[in-house]
Amino acid sequence: MPSYSFQCSEGCRFDAMFTMSEVPETAECRACGGVARRAITAPHLSAAGTSAFQLVDHAARSAHEPAVVDRLPGSGSRAPQRVTRNPLHAKLPRA
Ligand SMILES: [Zn+2]
Repeated sequence: MPSYSFQCSEGCRFDAMFTMSEVPETAECRACGGVARRAITAPHLSAAGTSAFQLVDHAARSAHEPAVVDRLPGSGSRAPQRVTRNPLHAKLPRA
């Protein structure tokens, strides 16, 4: 989830995390309670793509977009059991 910078009319600056679709143009200032406008900043591209960034992003995504499950765990997901027709294989010890 990207971090956005906000600056209020009193000059306080703070960062807040929003999804790209939910980021507001204004937010309440954490220091003085005034209206803070979103500041245009360079994106934090250096952190994107790192494993730490992916972990945080995945954890945040799974909180509000859990993976869809369409079958019970363990049913039908296993590889099909291999069957041999050779009679000599019946004498082999079973694993
Ligand atoms: Zn402020």
